[in-house]
Amino acid sequence: MVERICNTIGGEQVEPCSGNWLSNIEPATGSILGQLPASDHLDVEAAVEAAESAQNHWASLDGKDRGRHLHALADQVEANLDKLARLESMDNGKPVSLARTIDIPRAVQNLRFFADAAGADRSEVLPMGDEATNTVLRQPVGIAGVISPWNLPLYLLTWKIAPALAAGNTVVAKPSELTPVTAAELGRMSAACGMPAGVLNIVHGTGAEAGEPIVSHPGIGAVSFTGGTETGARISATAAPHFKKVSLELGGKNPNIIFDDADMEKALLGSVRSSFANQGQICLCGSRILIHSSRYERFVESLVSQAQALRLGDPLEAQTQQGALVSESHRDKIARCVDQAQRDGGEVLCGGSVPEHLPQRCQNGFFYEPTVIAGLPMEAAANQEEIFGPVVTVTRFEDEEEAIAMANATRYGLSASLWTSDGDRARRVASRIDAGTVWVNCWLLRDLRVPFGGVKHSGVGREGGEEAMRFFTESKTICEVS
Ligand code: NAD
Repeated sequence: MVERICNTIGGEQVEPCSGNWLSNIEPATGSILGQLPASDHLDVEAAVEAAESAQNHWASLDGKDRGRHLHALADQVEANLDKLARLESMDNGKPVSLARTIDIPRAVQNLRFFADAAGADRSEVLPMGDEATNTVLRQPVGIAGVISPWNLPLYLLTWKIAPALAAGNTVVAKPSELTPVTAAELGRMSAACGMPAGVLNIVHGTGAEAGEPIVSHPGIGAVSFTGGTETGARISATAAPHFKKVSLELGGKNPNIIFDDADMEKALLGSVRSSFANQGQICLCGSRILIHSSRYERFVESLVSQAQALRLGDPLEAQTQQGALVSESHRDKIARCVDQAQRDGGEVLCGGSVPEHLPQRCQNGFFYEPTVIAGLPMEAAANQEEIFGPVVTVTRFEDEEEAIAMANATRYGLSASLWTSDGDRARRVASRIDAGTVWVNCWLLRDLRVPFGGVKHSGVGREGGEEAMRFFTESKTICEVS
């Protein structure tokens, strides 16, 4: 059993003011893994006070010194790769191999990338002839609020914390209450590696009790949120009267388009990954596969056989490819979505139920089979609403125009994948797809320098590289006549 974890406030491990705790469930077994603080506005207040008292010193450090602190934290995460991967797997249900090769290494990369970015001088000098000189400074916002989801826990938390700290802000962060363990480790590591007390504060608890007070706190000047679209709308409304900067990375219903001239083997392998990686619980997963008519039968047949061949089982086993879903209620929601799809006329080609054969340890875990559904119109709920599980639909299209129309026929616009050997077509189609990112002949290939985010109901603002550094700073123009 994992120990009871605490908040990190002012460099200390602190119990919740209320004395109340929440249970943390291990998705693969359904058993209690440990407890986390049921924090509320009092804990957020204490975290903001700690962040406030650390702010001036942290902002006054040379960027390179802040970078050194972030590298020291990255060193700690890297040195504890195996331990953190195991904890992430137990906490989230994801295969330990995925946590070991993606989640934790990416957390290290996030910290190192922004550690290096911290040292750059982002001020600009814009002379007005002989008349005056404008100097544009980029100054930290002050205290940044960070709220993150459960699907890539340490990966997405560090993706926000690192630029916020690099830019000179102090941070009050709330990880998902479903997956708090690696964030708690990060809090302990930050104190152990000498990060000044109060620079990074981590408050655990639910969105309603601990998240809302972060969004509404007048001392917090910017809120960076990743999570569901409905939560994003609520956060937007709460933050608006405070005139805060808000960045929202929300849901997706991403199209994965297979053209007739695609390299079918590559398209198939890419589609299996983009459909089922992390049990389909990645905002960028391609949950709607659109296939040119001439390739439809062969492609779908191969997709189904590959989906059935995925090794589903105990996430702690090195060979496992499909682990558990994050919670019982999420698994049940996915099952309801598949039932609805069948009522809407969809045909379940594989999966569509809870697996029968599970290892003894996992008998009470929250598993669901990789599922492929055919025969649904674009208006069906399974093609419109984010299921966020191992469920994809397959739909045939006749030509480019129809593929584009289908791709854009949802309220979301996060990402898309195109599989084609025609570069002109790739660029033509990509330019017309409603999405923040379009991958051509690949999926989830990420360069931390490029802007990342969504359009329509997939979000507001961009993360990544300089976009993140801009979000976590305010510009100040000094116009000087000598
Ligand atoms: P969620 O919206 O339920 O929760 C996300 C976080 O917000 C959690 O920490 C939660 O406690 C907190 N929260 C909930 N209500 C709140 C409130 N009223 N005020 C403040 N905080 C609140 O999302 P989730 O279920 O944890 O994550 C899954 C969702 O995240 C999916 O929709 C997925 O697409 C999305 N997601 C998006 C991206 C992206 O980059 N666009 C990345 C990963 C996940």
